[in-house]
Amino acid sequence: MLLPGWSSFLVDLLIKNGVLVTMDGHRRILEDHAVAIEQGKVEEIGKTADLQKKHGTAEILDASGRIVMPGIVCSHSHLYGMLLRGAALKITPPSDFTQILQRVWWPVDEAMNFEDAYASALIASVEFAKSGVTAFADTYSGPNSISGVLDHIARAVEEVGIKGFVAFEATERHSKDEGTRGVQENVRFAEKMHSKPESKAKPLFSIHASFTVSDDLIKRVKALAVKYHVPITIHASEGLGDLHHNLENYGKRTVERLRDVGLLGPDVVLAHCVNLDENEINIVAQTNTGIAHNPMSNMLNAVGVAPVLRMLEKRINVGLGNDGYIFDMFENMRAAFLLHRVYHKDPNAIDPYTILEMATVNGAKLYGMEKEFGSIEPGKKADLIVIKPNVLPTPLNASSVLGHLVNTVDGDDVETVLVNGKFIIKNKQLLTFDEEKAQSISQTAAAKLWERLEAAHPQLDSVKK
Ligand SMILES: [Zn+2]
Repeated sequence: MLLPGWSSFLVDLLIKNGVLVTMDGHRRILEDHAVAIEQGKVEEIGKTADLQKKHGTAEILDASGRIVMPGIVCSHSHLYGMLLRGAALKITPPSDFTQILQRVWWPVDEAMNFEDAYASALIASVEFAKSGVTAFADTYSGPNSISGVLDHIARAVEEVGIKGFVAFEATERHSKDEGTRGVQENVRFAEKMHSKPESKAKPLFSIHASFTVSDDLIKRVKALAVKYHVPITIHASEGLGDLHHNLENYGKRTVERLRDVGLLGPDVVLAHCVNLDENEINIVAQTNTGIAHNPMSNMLNAVGVAPVLRMLEKRINVGLGNDGYIFDMFENMRAAFLLHRVYHKDPNAIDPYTILEMATVNGAKLYGMEKEFGSIEPGKKADLIVIKPNVLPTPLNASSVLGHLVNTVDGDDVETVLVNGKFIIKNKQLLTFDEEKAQSISQTAAAKLWERLEAAHPQLDSVKK
């Protein structure tokens, strides 16, 4: 029987009967429960029978045989990396990460234009959304497409409807002026978005890496980030080149230099941190700095294995990123799960729940959004996904769901995606943008980019022949 007044609490949507992985800090995994969503937020979680009586007129999403969990947060990405997928670059094979940057990425950066920035952000946002990512942090790089480029990326993010921190990667690779213009683009975008707090595209300040910038630029970005209340991200000790640069030029390891220049703090996300020693891990912990771990990218670039277990032992907040490589974050989760086991030769090195934390709540916290999303809890935005595994050889229940999420599920299994309580994906169909059109835009841009690359750098002869 309804209590007086309950009728005024009619919710918009009731998701019932799924195995509910809340990621609420109490490790609550619930069966026979439902999530009530009202005005874009999680209104309450309760027994399905109780909530059905209470919210009888709400739209019902029956998640029987399905997993309900928070949307995935990709903590570090480069959306423009999408345009290189499948490109067979005929270059002298790089022998280390610095040469990968010099022979592949930096020529690509120089060839990028606004059309490419929009196209790659569009198709990457589509692929993220379809595989259950509801928020990401992106860093764009392109010395010939700086001023205004974040508007093009933000447009794509808004059109697809997932949430993205977007930044221009400031670097002094070519000149001091290049660095200043990169910083100015981030400031311009932060000022523009200040009056649009509900926008899905949010400002982020990005510095490429300590080996391509001066102390002066790092200090300027830190001061501006504090002024505008915007988080900062920087690649840190990804390859050995970063470490060696700092040892040779400053007599310090990478994290020591970043601390001494005043960068570190809870508003900073260090991407990678592969080559950190124990002292550097302690500095990261003591300064409450966050880390984005990118296991698949680290494997691709053969840079090594980040000491993630030591970071977690020191209670450092570690999120999970794709670094612009594989956009299905379930693959990245599985890679992290396996990598640290084999590296430590320890089958108990890391458990599925820790991996899930990295891909949800930790990612939200890295960017100061832990009160907004990252878990399914009353008062938080209803950013959540429903997963129906295509192949399910064993029972799906509260005790098996964590194993299924790390061992069974792929991005293709994501059936429903909600952002702010609104359907972005329903029955695996993207509702916000014509998917074929996004693919066509992306393919056109990629083909032109590959042509420009080949003309400017004949050694980068691409796959199209
Ligand atoms: Zn990166």
